[in-house]
Amino acid sequence: MDTLTPDSYEVHDPQALAQARAILDACQDGRAMQESVTAAVRRNETWRGQQCINLLAPEAPTSPAVRALLASEIGTRAAEGHIGPVNRWFAGTRHIDEVEALCVELLKRAFRCRYADHRLVASMIGNLAVYTALTEPGDVIMSIAQPFGGHSSNRWDGPAGVRGLKVVDVPMDPVELTVDLDLFRRVAPLVRPKLVALGASMTLFPFPLAEMSAVVAEWGGRIFFDGAHQIGLIAGGQFQDPLREGAAVLTGSAGKTFSGPQSGIMVWDDPALTERLTHAVFPVLAATHQVNRVAALAVAAAEMIEFGAVYMAQIVANAQALAAALETHGIPVIGASKGYTRTHQAIANVRSFGGGLDVAHLLARANIIANKNLIPGDTPADWDRPGGLRMGTIEVTRLGMGPAEMATIADFMARVLVARESPDSVGEDVIEFRQAYQTLYYNFDHPLPAA
Ligand SMILES: *Cc1c(COP(=O)(O)O)cnc(C)c1O
Repeated sequence: MDTLTPDSYEVHDPQALAQARAILDACQDGRAMQESVTAAVRRNETWRGQQCINLLAPEAPTSPAVRALLASEIGTRAAEGHIGPVNRWFAGTRHIDEVEALCVELLKRAFRCRYADHRLVASMIGNLAVYTALTEPGDVIMSIAQPFGGHSSNRWDGPAGVRGLKVVDVPMDPVELTVDLDLFRRVAPLVRPKLVALGASMTLFPFPLAEMSAVVAEWGGRIFFDGAHQIGLIAGGQFQDPLREGAAVLTGSAGKTFSGPQSGIMVWDDPALTERLTHAVFPVLAATHQVNRVAALAVAAAEMIEFGAVYMAQIVANAQALAAALETHGIPVIGASKGYTRTHQAIANVRSFGGGLDVAHLLARANIIANKNLIPGDTPADWDRPGGLRMGTIEVTRLGMGPAEMATIADFMARVLVARESPDSVGEDVIEFRQAYQTLYYNFDHPLPAA
């Protein structure tokens, strides 16, 4: 490898960048450069889109209707500001106002709430909007540490840190991955957090939200539910209902269980928070907010209103079936005593199979895509090579699969990890299996898979 000099330092993989430079150097003209981009996109579509079993928990395949809207003309229009002719800086937004108003009202119906914001280009930004609106620099918040599933957006190394907040850990039970409520009742009054962020990226079970809300109410503290992962389950009525259980505000990723375009959603009920939360979105954190994405989000919300209950229930049933099937192969899964999971996720402890990094790359060679994950017992030093493997069942469910197919997927994984079969030969069988599952369901073109 080249020795690193200060002006050759790269955060990105230097080899990947060097390869891109070589491709571009070999191009005759700009058209050839364009073709090298689109060819890589097509390769991904063939592999990930048609051949792989995708078990990445934060991914969802969008319906054809949602995808088509992402390429629509409206995405080239500038429309910053709030909905309505007087609120906008630009003229000509008549139909954009229609689309955005429909999106807001659809989100309110999907979440059975009074207010929704549609302009967050990422849930990460949604969380920053919450911290901007509801905290001051120097305030104390509590959130879940990363080894227990917490997300950087609520920690010192993300938006909460950018806002200058002091972050105290929500005490967690190291075995069950649930909040240690007794310890919370003792710790929280000592630091009197203004906000407690609940929700997590590694998420298996509901949180004791109502109980925690009662604790922090004593000093006027609030619960903020970061439902990045669970927000589709929440819309579909298949998880706890944070706004009904006392959360002041709920954010989430539109592109995880909600199965819409990758971006953020923020919903709340209290009119007293509306001015602050909305101001934090515009003008503070959003300007041109991608109206094509708003249109796609609106349609995803309509799909969720129509199909959310049955789609999300199947996602959870599939995650439970996948976890149980893995255990029968001797691959331990967290949460066994409680039925493994009440979300789209299953978390395996793969330390004895080489750890999360090696396992994830081995499975990817077999065309099964999942991610390494920190699990209890890992330390920050284990960040790159943690002990866990996180799987999600959003995509396999939307492709029409059920518990029988989850058993098949567990078989494939066990052939690689337990029987130590060559991942390349298992991968051929995976491609063969996947051929029969190419239609996306739970949308208006293809409502429900055959039972
Ligand atoms: C994924 C995630 C986020 C960030 O969401 P994006 O939509 O990717 O910006 C925030 N919080 C949690 C808990 C997450 O899992």
